[in-house]
Amino acid sequence: MIRHCARAGRALLAFLLPDACLSCGAPLGDGERNLCPACRGTLTARLRALPLPAATASAEQEVAGPSGQLRAAALFALAFDGPARALIHALKYEGRPSAADDLAEAVGPLVGRAARGVVDAIVPVPLHAVRLRERGFNQAEIIARRIAPFVGAPVEASWLRRVHPTRTQTDLSRTERLANVRLAFEADGGHAAGRRVLLVDDVVTTGATLAAAAAALGAAGAECACFAVTGTKPVDKGAGGPLSFWIRLAHGACCA
Ligand SMILES: [Zn+2]
Repeated sequence: MIRHCARAGRALLAFLLPDACLSCGAPLGDGERNLCPACRGTLTARLRALPLPAATASAEQEVAGPSGQLRAAALFALAFDGPARALIHALKYEGRPSAADDLAEAVGPLVGRAARGVVDAIVPVPLHAVRLRERGFNQAEIIARRIAPFVGAPVEASWLRRVHPTRTQTDLSRTERLANVRLAFEADGGHAAGRRVLLVDDVVTTGATLAAAAAALGAAGAECACFAVTGTKPVDKGAGGPLSFWIRLAHGACCA
């Protein structure tokens, strides 16, 4: 409750003072954008390269797809709190695209080091057409376009479609989430076949959505997938394990 009030207070402050830090409400200086230097420093310090989480071990077969050829590799993410959470909210719910610049600047260098030269395309996790119409933009695609210069690969948003709307996953267990998104995606085999793909999403919780998206690419003949997300939410007990499962440093490049 106190946290909610504090967050609401910061949001109100940011609304009243547009030049305030989105995370802590401190006034921003000249040339500063969205975050104060202290919060920006925390943001980059919270970046982790993570292996595909143990919490999604049962999803690995789904990631492999029917051919079993698709290999999924590293996952890059910021802990979903403080400034990362503030930026993702500003992008997603306030439509502030400059927040995607900050997220990409935090995640991009590490993703670029791992993925440059080893992925052929960057594919944002799509929204269903109905959700896209409601929101007006796909935040994952905006982030993907900001990450692209670090990776040096084109963004191919049309390679993956969300063919079934999925209900909100917030209250679902990991198994229910997997069932919820299992057939949500369809990939364009004409383009994805034989390609190495970097999948980008804004937030990952259990990995069920990423696993389903990667499985669709695998079914369409894609060779491998690695993942870049800008926030990892801790999951409730019973929904796939705590965030600590994720905090094991990934080794080297994705799709290696
Ligand atoms: Zn701040």
